[in-house]
Amino acid sequence: MNEQRFLSQLEEFSTAFNDTKGNGVTRFSWSHTATLAQSWLEKEFSRMGISLRADGAGNLHAHIKGKTDLPRVIVGSHLDTVQNGAKYDGSFGLVAALETLRSFREEGFIPNRSIEFIAFAEEEGANFGTTCLGSKLITGIIKPNDLKSLCNDETNAWDMLEKFGLDPANLENEQIVPHTVYAYLEAHVEQERRLFKNNYKLGIVKAISAMRSYRIIYHGESVFAATPLKERRDPVVSFIECHTEIQKAVASGIFPENTRFTVGQICCNPGTPIMVPGECIFTIDIRNLEISNLPAISEKIKEIIVKVAEKNGIGVDIVPLSRSGGVKMSELVQNAYKNATNELGFEYFEMNCGTALDAAPMGMVVPAGLLLVANQVNSETGEKYALPEDLCSGALVYEKTIRQLVSE
Ligand SMILES: [Zn+2]
Repeated sequence: MNEQRFLSQLEEFSTAFNDTKGNGVTRFSWSHTATLAQSWLEKEFSRMGISLRADGAGNLHAHIKGKTDLPRVIVGSHLDTVQNGAKYDGSFGLVAALETLRSFREEGFIPNRSIEFIAFAEEEGANFGTTCLGSKLITGIIKPNDLKSLCNDETNAWDMLEKFGLDPANLENEQIVPHTVYAYLEAHVEQERRLFKNNYKLGIVKAISAMRSYRIIYHGESVFAATPLKERRDPVVSFIECHTEIQKAVASGIFPENTRFTVGQICCNPGTPIMVPGECIFTIDIRNLEISNLPAISEKIKEIIVKVAEKNGIGVDIVPLSRSGGVKMSELVQNAYKNATNELGFEYFEMNCGTALDAAPMGMVVPAGLLLVANQVNSETGEKYALPEDLCSGALVYEKTIRQLVSE
């Protein structure tokens, strides 16, 4: 691979397709900016004589024909980001896969197995709160019809896809058929700080954490700010109590080791300084490395949420948003990553991953493997950034591993 070209294209992609320049990277699925990123990829693939096709969810697919009809190897990562996301999130894996395929083409290397490139849509779940939506739809974990009941304030997911010119009805015909796939390989920058703390540059993932998320709505009563405190049914008070109770429960050690919970979104309705809100709406994300632990943890947390509502005499709704992960990565791909890393003279850290990437849904239906590259952490600002040499090391391992598996 051409390391210089890889780095400059990664920089170009991460910088150009961003709605919040100077404040992280924001590239939501099915947005104008995502369309521009798609055009860029189309242009790069067309230079190799390969066309890029969008499926009913907006995942982009490219096919490279191998010498045989053996099960193919899928490579890729996601096209979207969260609001103000990390610079190379998603784009690292996409550009590393692109550079790998282009290098093969330039060398005249024709793989034994066909290769499919996928740029997944909506991995972050920014539009509807459901993570890995693109990969869940083509692996059958979410059915196309479920899109009609997946809503945000403005629309449902089915209508949004149609409005964007996609054909969600066709997703039925675009499912991944497990026995036609040899392996799925993803490369990604690490979201946690495990590699940094352990002083490693590359991580080979053994398993991806299980996660579930919920939207909670506390229904109180909206009254004017002049209303005496005693006469209010303020849902924000319940939110604060609930958060504190869950923190206490975690500290008391009643949950299994490695349990994480996060309130990532809070809003009040009406959200105005002079009113007590009628509703406090927030999300809770619950994670554990063992999927079998999730039901009990979720039940306990729901119990706390309901208890607080009852105590304060307000209503509560708990809406399931997303569930994923709890997937072991394939030994075949892990070993291939290890061999490639060793042969290139790099070191690796074997780890579990707390982030639900597309490798999680993919890993439920086909053998999947995830390679992580360390983010450095600025000790003063906490800002995360990946070093060019580490991105190159990761891309080299990724390329070598793909070459190995498509030659088998
Ligand atoms: Zn990502």
